[in-house]
Amino acid sequence: VDRLRKSYSSGGNDLTVLEGISFAVPSGTTFAIVGPSGSGKTTLLGLCAGLDTPDSGTVEVCGQDLGSLTEDQRAALRNEKVGFIFQNFQLLPTLTALENVSVPLELQGFRGAGETARTLLQKVGLADRTHHYPSQLSGGEQQRVALARAFANRPEILFADEPTGNLDGHTGQRVVDLLFDLNQEAGTTLVIVTHDMELARRCDRILRLQGGRMLEPEEPSKP
Ligand code: ATP
Repeated sequence: VDRLRKSYSSGGNDLTVLEGISFAVPSGTTFAIVGPSGSGKTTLLGLCAGLDTPDSGTVEVCGQDLGSLTEDQRAALRNEKVGFIFQNFQLLPTLTALENVSVPLELQGFRGAGETARTLLQKVGLADRTHHYPSQLSGGEQQRVALARAFANRPEILFADEPTGNLDGHTGQRVVDLLFDLNQEAGTTLVIVTHDMELARRCDRILRLQGGRMLEPEEPSKP
């Protein structure tokens, strides 16, 4: 990420929400973005994931400059190499837990999508909830379905927005452990927005945002 700037216009005014943001996340490492509410964390994650475009500055993901790609190329990069976990899960309400994981795989022409989805749901402890719809699942269970879906295409990099938000301590811990297992086992790079300092301290680097500007990234003091 190099010299990123982003503003929103509302009511005729331009509001700069990010300015002067530059950092690098080495492949296979874990990176936390922290900061007060409204400091620009979610906006930054969206720009990094190519879901939104900056006013100026560049973002490179897996060696590709997002700004130089067409929308189709950006979509292909997202499908092939990038995973997301959103704050509000974004599960499709009309699909079961199993379908929420398997259908995106099927759409990508993946063979054995059903079996893969079943295995992933088992891994996140939801083997007995595969035929439940999101409305029949608790918040923590929905979050784990979202996690299974994000893992499904074996992303090189995973962007997670508040993956433990709204979860109780135990469930949150379980979700975090799954994320770090993925990093350890598959070498997936993790970029995590969080208010949870315990989670942030487990990451290799922490980026602190304040009022849309970054304080120097620091090495967490690992126990
Ligand atoms: P939180 O911790 O509360 O989720 P955040 O650090 O993730 O906050 P962002 O969601 O990135 O913050 O928002 C940063 C600022 O940009 C906020 O002041 C917000 O009001 C503003 N903002 C976000 N999206 C838009 C938008 N689409 N239009 C106008 N302003 C926006």
